[in-house]
Amino acid sequence: MTGQNYIDGQWRKGGSVTETINPSDLNETVGRYADATLSMAEEALDAARRALPGWRASNIQARSDLLRKVGDALMSEAQSIGALLAREEGKTLAEAVGETVRAAQVFHYYAGEALRHPGQWYPSLRDGLNVVVSYEPVGVVSAITPWNFPIAIPAWKTAAALAYGNTVVLKPSEFAPGCAVRLTEILEQAGLPKGVFNLVMGDGRALGPTLISGADAVSFTGSTPTGRKVLEQAAPTMTKVQLELGGKNPFVVLDDADLDTAVSAAAQGAWGQTGQRCTGSERIIVTRRIHDAFVERMMQAARELRVGHALDADTQIGPVATQPQFAKNLAAFASAREEGAELAFGGTPIEGRTDGLYLAPALFLNTSNAMRLNREEVFGPVGAIIKVEDLDEAIAVANDCELALSSGIATTNLSHAEKFRRASKAGVVTVNTPTAGVDYHVPFGGRPPSGFGGREQGQGAAEFFTEIKTSYVNHGVM
Ligand code: NDP
Repeated sequence: MTGQNYIDGQWRKGGSVTETINPSDLNETVGRYADATLSMAEEALDAARRALPGWRASNIQARSDLLRKVGDALMSEAQSIGALLAREEGKTLAEAVGETVRAAQVFHYYAGEALRHPGQWYPSLRDGLNVVVSYEPVGVVSAITPWNFPIAIPAWKTAAALAYGNTVVLKPSEFAPGCAVRLTEILEQAGLPKGVFNLVMGDGRALGPTLISGADAVSFTGSTPTGRKVLEQAAPTMTKVQLELGGKNPFVVLDDADLDTAVSAAAQGAWGQTGQRCTGSERIIVTRRIHDAFVERMMQAARELRVGHALDADTQIGPVATQPQFAKNLAAFASAREEGAELAFGGTPIEGRTDGLYLAPALFLNTSNAMRLNREEVFGPVGAIIKVEDLDEAIAVANDCELALSSGIATTNLSHAEKFRRASKAGVVTVNTPTAGVDYHVPFGGRPPSGFGGREQGQGAAEFFTEIKTSYVNHGVM
């Protein structure tokens, strides 16, 4: 796979080249991608600005048809894009194909939303006037995305931005830009006018300031520390900012939980997709009477998980995506042990049939909410059990964390579920299902510092990708 930047309808070489390595096999180079220079990022923003008047005025049926075409192409190429994703990011093939299908569905959804463009009409307080509230495109949008959902996140930012009449400059993660290149090819083939969508690749720290100050809005997904920098960089120009950031999500298991449901949801939430989901369940809060039985079943679930090459049919957990993340996970586990957490399972590198970044899913016992392990996002395959007395203590522990993205509970008691749902400070709450895994037709996001500046997906996206205009019309008819 090779990839270039896409600026004003032209594929362009950059200043240097970044290679990506297959985390399932460190001897395999997956792609070579041209890094954009700063002046190329400026050119991309200029192209997006020139294309804006035409795109925002474009016929909504034509806009919708184009987005549908992109969704159709993603759907029909889901296997090949999924295979590229699995090789570059390390997600299992099933997870990667599923993510590509999700990207296609997102384009289909926003093809419909382009036609349901919001707006309201009010009678005025003053006789002879109407009030029209319309939603206009925010303008040129810079979309900056992470490596862990390299097709879904670029898709949900791009599809929503385009549907509401904005033009886009996308900067994917340098660790996994291949899917963004494929998405760009599909957008080009679908007939998107030049300049409406642009792709620039390379180091986010270098390109970030230009992409932020030169855009009308920045939709960013990544870690909370980087998100804070983006917010600071946006302040001088008051660029509108949407941040989807890290999580340290609690999953509560009550004495009255169905054990099968609780174990399945906790295991999937903690270790699924190698734990590399912002909505993963890293903190598992368990009440005293079910604790031992739950732990025994979690150990069994961990033992049964097959970690291996992302493309092997029987693999359930792929490798860690990058070498820096692999080192970060091991350092976090070592620090957790120093703090007194008991590593009951996994947490160590394992041999695979290839030279990959394989890590046995980790289960820590006897942890407390005061430990760093339970306060800072690890972003790896880890679950840490915190034993509590009852629902009230579970709620207190769940909410005692700076990050507030998602939270979940396993219980068969409706009142307990409702009490938790109301008390949780997270932006997403789940009952008897993992804290990870979201629908595209409803708003998604966390509360600060897990999220900032409005929700993504569903109709929530209109809030960020449009600006409200309130018009008073004196028509003179009494
Ligand atoms: P990073 O924050 O490291 O990077 C995210 C993107 O920002 C990358 O494209 C990166 O570029 C770019 N970037 C880096 N520095 C800057 C800067 N100073 N200014 C502007 N852009 C910059 O996150 P990761 O890629 O490591 O992704 C993992 C993180 O993403 C986790 O914390 C996870 O929780 C979070 N996440 C949140 C989600 C949510 O919806 N809440 C969903 C998915 C992930 P480069 O290519 O150089 O790395």
